[in-house]
Amino acid sequence: MSDQSQELGITESKSHRPGEWYAEVVQKAGLADYAPMGGFIVTKPRGYALWESIQDALDGWFKETGVDNVYFPMFIPESYLEREKDIVEGFDPEVAWVTQGGHEELEERLAVRPTSESIIAPYMAQWVRSHRDLPLRLNQWCSVVRWEATDTKPFFRTKEFMWQEGHTAHATNEGAWEEVWTRLYQYERVYEEVLAIPVLRGKKPEHDKFPGADTTTTVEALMPDGKSVQGGTSHHLGQSFAEAFDITFVDEDEKEQTAYTTSWGLSWRAIGALIMTHSDDQGLVLPPTIAPTQVAIVPIWQEETRDDVLEYAAGVAEELEEANVRVELDDRDERNPGFKFNEHELNGVPLRIEIGPNEAADEEVTLVHRPDNEKVVAERDDVAETVEAHLETIYDKLYAAAEERLEENVRTADSPEEIMGTIGRHGGYVKVPWCGDEACEEAIKEKVAAEIVMQPLADEGGSTPGETKRPDEDAVCAVCGEPADQIAYFAKSY
Ligand SMILES: [Zn+2]
Repeated sequence: MSDQSQELGITESKSHRPGEWYAEVVQKAGLADYAPMGGFIVTKPRGYALWESIQDALDGWFKETGVDNVYFPMFIPESYLEREKDIVEGFDPEVAWVTQGGHEELEERLAVRPTSESIIAPYMAQWVRSHRDLPLRLNQWCSVVRWEATDTKPFFRTKEFMWQEGHTAHATNEGAWEEVWTRLYQYERVYEEVLAIPVLRGKKPEHDKFPGADTTTTVEALMPDGKSVQGGTSHHLGQSFAEAFDITFVDEDEKEQTAYTTSWGLSWRAIGALIMTHSDDQGLVLPPTIAPTQVAIVPIWQEETRDDVLEYAAGVAEELEEANVRVELDDRDERNPGFKFNEHELNGVPLRIEIGPNEAADEEVTLVHRPDNEKVVAERDDVAETVEAHLETIYDKLYAAAEERLEENVRTADSPEEIMGTIGRHGGYVKVPWCGDEACEEAIKEKVAAEIVMQPLADEGGSTPGETKRPDEDAVCAVCGEPADQIAYFAKSY
C-alpha cells in the first residue's frame, strides 16, 4: 500500500521546483498527457471537463450578448492570409503549412489557422450589406496551431491549443469599443467567478499589440511563482481588416461606409492558470465552481458496521444529488479510506465527507475542506444546505488567497536597478512611470527577462477609450529618466 500511495502522490515541491511540480500535477491528476509529437498534448477526460466548464460559462454569456457560433475551415489559403500584411508578418514564423493533399502537390499552400481573421473577414464582407446587418457578432470554438519551438508546458505552451475566437463588425468606432469592453469584462468574470482568480485589466503596449490591431486589451493573472499570465485578450481592430477585406455597408443616408471590427480570444491557458494558482504539494486544488466532482463521500467501516455506514452514506449522497451537488460516493471495497483520501486530494475534489459508525449513530457528517484541511462536524439534517455553504466558503478561501497574493505583489520602482532587483527578489508586478519608448522595455528585458505585460487604462467607457492612465505631471520614466506620460507594469510572463 505504501508504494502505491507514493506512486499516486506528488513528489515535487511547488515552491522549490514549480515547473516540475506543475508537470507532475497535470499528469498525476489525470488532466493531460504528452503526445508523440513534441509540443502537443492529449487532453484527458478530467482535463477536458475543466475546459467544458469554462466553455459553458463563456458561451452562455456570449449568447446573452448577441453572439452566434459558427465554424470555419482550419485551413487558410496563403493568398487570403496575405491580404492583411500585419497578420502575415506577425504570424509568419509560427505558421504550419500544408503543401500536399494525398499524392498531389497543392497549387496554393494552405496555412493551418494560427487565428482566423483572414478566413472569417471575407465572409463577413459578404454577409454585411447594410447598416441593418450590423453589429455582426460571430464566435468559434476551435483549436489553432502556432509552431513555436519551445518546451511543452501543458495548457500554457503547446503548438496546438484550444480556444474561442470572436469576430465582430460594427457601424461605428464606439460600437466596436463597446464590444471590446463587453468581452474583456466577460473574460475578467470567468476568471473571478469561475476560476477564483483575480485579474488586472489593461492594455498591451503599442509594440506588443495583436498584429493589425489598433488596441489590444488584456486581463493578466499573477501566478504564485511571480510570473504573469495573459488570461485573455480583446482587440479593437479599427478599420484595417475591414479595409483589407472590404467589409463595407450602406448607412442610413445610402452612403457606403467601412465597418469597424474587433476580435477576442480566450484559450485553455486559463486551465494552466487555474492549476498553477490553487494547487499544492498534495496535488490539484479546484474551486467548487469548476470541479467535475465537488464532493467525495468516503465511508469508513469495519465488517460489523459496513451495512449501516454504507446505507447512511448512500442516503447523504442521494440528498446531495437531488440538490444538484456533483457528488461521488466512493464505496469501492478494494481501497481503504486512507488511499481514497489521497486520491481525492490529488484530483482536487473540493470537499470530502467522512462517514463512519459514529457519524451514522449520531446523525452527523464530517466535512473536510481540500485547500486547508479544515475539518467540521455538522448535523445530518439539511446536509445539502450545509454542503453548499461549505462549497462557497472553499471558493472564498481560494479567491482570498489569490487576491492577497496579487495585492502584495504590485510594487513600484524609480530606477532600472530597482525594477530588476524587485523582479529578481519577489517576482510579481513592478509599476513604473514610462516614457513609451520600446527601448526602455528592451533594456530591462535583456537583463531580467521581464517585460511590460500591461498598462492600466484611464477611461474605458469614456471619450478616450484605450488611453492609458497617466502618472503625475512631473513623472519621469523609471528606465531612462525622460518625461513619462504612461504607466507600465513590468513582470516576467508565461
Ligand atoms: Zn524611458
